[in-house]
Amino acid sequence: MDKDNTLEEIGGIALSRICGRAEELMGEIRDLRRDLHRNPELGMEETRTASIVAEYLRRLDIEVSEGVGGTGVVGLLRGGTDGPTVALRADMDALPMDEDTGVDYASSVPGKMHSCGHDAHTAILLGTARMLSELTDAGSNLKGNVKFLFQPAEEGPGGAQPMLDDGAFDAPAVDAVFGLHVDVNLPTGTVGSRRGVMTAAADEARIEIVGKGGHGAHPHTAVDSVVVASYVVTALQTLVSREVSPADSAVFSVGRIAGGYRNNIIAPKVNMEATVRTLSREVRDVLPGRIEGIVRGVCEAMRADYGLEYDYGYPPLENSDEMVDLFFRSAGALLGSGSVVEIDDPSMGAEDFAYFAEAAPACFYRLGVRNEEKGLGVYPNHNPRFDIDEDALVVGAKTMTVLALSYLSPKD
Ligand SMILES: [Zn+2]
Ligand SMILES: [Zn+2]
Repeated sequence: MDKDNTLEEIGGIALSRICGRAEELMGEIRDLRRDLHRNPELGMEETRTASIVAEYLRRLDIEVSEGVGGTGVVGLLRGGTDGPTVALRADMDALPMDEDTGVDYASSVPGKMHSCGHDAHTAILLGTARMLSELTDAGSNLKGNVKFLFQPAEEGPGGAQPMLDDGAFDAPAVDAVFGLHVDVNLPTGTVGSRRGVMTAAADEARIEIVGKGGHGAHPHTAVDSVVVASYVVTALQTLVSREVSPADSAVFSVGRIAGGYRNNIIAPKVNMEATVRTLSREVRDVLPGRIEGIVRGVCEAMRADYGLEYDYGYPPLENSDEMVDLFFRSAGALLGSGSVVEIDDPSMGAEDFAYFAEAAPACFYRLGVRNEEKGLGVYPNHNPRFDIDEDALVVGAKTMTVLALSYLSPKD
């Protein structure tokens, strides 16, 4: 097949030029990542990271807003010609844990570690900003705008919604948004995504069963909260097995249960905590009411009282079909379709990007960082020995760049 017939440019910029520039910037992106890795900061404390981000963007003639939704930073590469605005997002926060990798760029801060790869996400997006600014002559050859979102606190309590509340998607309004996460399940050089839901909603239920204490030898004079709680836990399992469609998915796990004093005292009270994971808004909206219905019914039948608190966490992250198609098209042209993977199942984990995906059509994708020969990308996220194959950084920057250019180039 004639090579000239394959897609060779996106938005008037040759793919070979994009790849070449990415390779040249490899060392710089890696150094940025290692500096952030050595100096991890927890959610809403990312002041050093944010100032490095802001300074780097300013040097590229990108307009910068700091302190967006806490420690968030927004960069705006304004196009020379009017057009839509595409946003690219990275998260900046680390986790409260000690690092045990032994690498020379390991965390220098006891009790803090970039064990989820957000250091890589930030470095990749900075590299992407540099590529986009240079390739478009500081935006003058760009039809439309690119926004760069650097968000705090993905690991909790969440930075996306505070950034939205602070106007991150306004002036100019964002028309589409892309984000990535490093993935140790995919080999370096590959990326993956899926239509529909990428990650679950993660909500929490706290239930208190209130009985009546008494002597273990005379249960008829008491209301045994341990027995009531046991029925409640069992009955709640039918929510997922009998009330959620087999074609949908949900998880209800009671992770903690506590109550009572000792063997011959009937416990007056039992407390439990459960995580509730759902993939669709419909199921997510229905479950809290049904949980309460079951708890109330069992407690009434068994003469106990109850208390229920329900906290909503991140919503399900739902990709837009149109943006996923654009991802498969442009990443396929860039990396070869064999390197772009269709992910089978959504993750029951949660991701703060979900709020951005509610605010504009979105595609969240996974960046392969696994290299078994090098022994990198083999420990799971949040593990003290988590590390990535840094060759993936270039793949991240190239795909982000191409996604922005593809979105802003007119469809033919
Ligand atoms: Zn994480
Ligand atoms: Zn993460």
